[in-house]
Amino acid sequence: MRQTEDHSQRFWLAYGAASLAVAAMALGWGIFFASRQAWALVGIDIAVIAVALMSFLLAHRRQLSAALLFSQVSFFFIILVFCLVFDVPDTVAPRVTHIFLLVLALLGYINYQRERSRLQLAVIVLCLGSFIVFSSTNLTAPVTQPIADEFRTFGTWVNSIIAVTLLCGGIYVMQLKFARNLDQARDIKAALTNREFELFYQPQVDEAGKVSGAEALLRRKRPGGGYISPAEFIPAAEQAGLMPALGDWVLGEACRTLAFWQQEEPTRHLKLSVNVSVDQFMRADFVETLLARITARELDPTRLKLELTESMMVHDVDGIVEKMRSLRATGIILSLDDFGTGYSSLSHLRQLPIHEIKIDRSFVQDAPQSKRNRILLKSIFDIARMLEFSVVAEGIETKEQLMLLQSFGCTIFQGYYFGRPVPLAEFQSRWANEAPPLAETA
Ligand code: C2E
Ligand code: MG
Ligand code: MG
Repeated sequence: MRQTEDHSQRFWLAYGAASLAVAAMALGWGIFFASRQAWALVGIDIAVIAVALMSFLLAHRRQLSAALLFSQVSFFFIILVFCLVFDVPDTVAPRVTHIFLLVLALLGYINYQRERSRLQLAVIVLCLGSFIVFSSTNLTAPVTQPIADEFRTFGTWVNSIIAVTLLCGGIYVMQLKFARNLDQARDIKAALTNREFELFYQPQVDEAGKVSGAEALLRRKRPGGGYISPAEFIPAAEQAGLMPALGDWVLGEACRTLAFWQQEEPTRHLKLSVNVSVDQFMRADFVETLLARITARELDPTRLKLELTESMMVHDVDGIVEKMRSLRATGIILSLDDFGTGYSSLSHLRQLPIHEIKIDRSFVQDAPQSKRNRILLKSIFDIARMLEFSVVAEGIETKEQLMLLQSFGCTIFQGYYFGRPVPLAEFQSRWANEAPPLAETA
């Protein structure tokens, strides 16, 4: 997900610079008001500097969403107090501080695009609502301490110019992002048309050491040769809203492969796991389209596994569970991918009608070194056994990891230890007809 990281890096740099600029601006005003002995205003400026520095520190620790929310909520209250107590409109100058509420709302919208949350939405609505109230009324606090008119006459101009400049900056950032998304969307659409995508297949091995199936993993062909990893193009496709189209192509290809496997004796038993993205799964016609494909190719649905992730659970949970039930009723196997990396993995086990969990490779890879990880892993296997889920361990790279997982009762294994993802022809020639790799390598 390098692209997302790059983007976050740039965003954090811009945000960090903006926080320091706000702190510097407040310092300037603070010195000015201190020279005029307006101590209450100096107090407000100190609060602004504290919030700006605190959010700079949060952003510096890569807690960007926390930094953005913290600064929005704190500045919202500072602006509220400033408008009600100090920036009291009169015949000399109108109130202007409330224009900064629009800047906060825009900042909130940019953050909401990065990471959707109800809290962020609520802060945006609060800022816009308060802006409307301050623009339409002369509302003040019961006790006011209006800024002297000599400051207000030029302060109104300065604050309006700063607020409008910040608004323009925010709109420019959004415009850049929009243009980049458009480029990426065009590029991915062109890649689909030019057949630049290909499915790779990574073997999954059962407890007897036989290849029992494969996971289909998407790759994009590089123009000069070689392949691009999905970590590079999937975030872009997600941002451009193209995962449903890309995922649809993947499912089409996967069904074609399954139909092919079904015709040959040595491959008839193989199951194929396909990753499904949230956007793709949420499509109203997802189940219908998939079932139509299965019927058209006369596939055995019990050979198809759909790998879903816990990130889905931020959406309409009842709708998702209902969709999963209807898929399950057809015989399709449902697997919960990257298990253990979500926020409330155990509660998802309670709710979701799945057959299988796929333990994330971070657990598998740390297990031999970390006692705590081993205890966690063993508990996951115990719970899965009691709930009658099968468990796939992915990311197995060493014999030590394999033996540990076997001792926990793991029955399906996947990882570089057995084989890397390879093109279909190579998968078939290397594994579909071959002797058991577990017996060979273990
Ligand atoms: P995933 O579904 O968890 O797939 C497993 C990833 O782990 C694959 O990376 C695989 O190559 C890698 N892996 C397997 N064994 C090992 C190992 O022993 N060591 C290490 N270090 N890595 C191992 P890949 O192919 O780069 O895919 C990354 C992710 O991209 C996938 O994670 C999946 O979330 C996504 N993805 C790939 N293809 C598709 C697709 O067709 N549709 C959707 N929606 N997502 C896909
Ligand atoms: Mg997967
Ligand atoms: Mg996974």
